[in-house]
Amino acid sequence: MSAAGPKLPIVDSPKYNISVFGLEKLHSFDSKKYGRIFSHLTTVSKLFTHSQTHTPPTPTRNDLLKIHTPAYMDSLNDRMVLTRILEVPVVAMLPMFVSRSRILEPMLAGTGGTILAAELAMKHGWAMNLGGGYHHASGNQGSGFCVYADWALAITNVFEKFPAVKRVLYVDLDAHQGNGVARSFMEDDRVHILDAYNPHIFPADTYAKTAITYAMSLSTATLKTPTPYLSLLRTTLSHAIESSKPDLICYNAGTDCLEGDRLGAMMLTDEAVVERDEIVWRMALEKGVPVVMALSGGYQMNNAGVIARSIENLVQKLGLFDRMRHDSGIGESADSGFNG
Ligand SMILES: [Zn+2]
Repeated sequence: MSAAGPKLPIVDSPKYNISVFGLEKLHSFDSKKYGRIFSHLTTVSKLFTHSQTHTPPTPTRNDLLKIHTPAYMDSLNDRMVLTRILEVPVVAMLPMFVSRSRILEPMLAGTGGTILAAELAMKHGWAMNLGGGYHHASGNQGSGFCVYADWALAITNVFEKFPAVKRVLYVDLDAHQGNGVARSFMEDDRVHILDAYNPHIFPADTYAKTAITYAMSLSTATLKTPTPYLSLLRTTLSHAIESSKPDLICYNAGTDCLEGDRLGAMMLTDEAVVERDEIVWRMALEKGVPVVMALSGGYQMNNAGVIARSIENLVQKLGLFDRMRHDSGIGESADSGFNG
């Protein structure tokens, strides 16, 4: 595809990468994974070019206040609060301006990405943010390396801008429980949740668990072997779509369920993750439900390659680029751009 190719509902920003003078190595993750995914897709597989993608606007404080409390927003100026959320002790030693520009701003860009991608999915039938997925953050709390509640902001924005959207199905297949998203919609029955996570690891949030609509309980067998996991996913997701009849599916596609991930402690192979993504996308597209994906956790050095391969697979096998709708959206009530 050439530089003159059509604009695609793919959102990315060079700001996504987090780098704090090498300190990022202390959290044992590939903080450059976003850049690596993008460069793989644009220069190795040449699926699209930079000019075909969308760069998200940065959410304003007012945008963030649609979910976050003023007290929480103010608390982010406190180094100790940030250190606790990011779980990187060295953050306590950094001047705030460094944490802000090297950590908070990338996460803010990723948050803008998820908000924009959800809007694009409503307009074009599908979209992806090549970052975001901060599923542990809620209105008044950040944790587990998640500062801003990008999914809650994106879903709230869709409800506001697309009145025809009555129900959203949030599907979380990151190895960790999406407790921040669940906590953001405890009282909101417009949001149904399917969450499949390793119950033996962080955050074990029993309160948030009560908001899960479709439990996909992972037993020892499904945590450790791909085949029963994928088969359970097919059944649970199909049932969830049938009974929720969603107008949008939000897919939190964390890849820390890959084998070798010390935090996720699951055993999905590279191929299983590619197949997992295909199951979700195929089901959404075949049932005509718009789908939006954010990448969430998973920071081993091989994650970027697996994610890029999975996106290639979606484009090639599901003909993603040919399925792009060009209409102006269903029941859209306002112009695009969320920080106006
Ligand atoms: Zn995770």
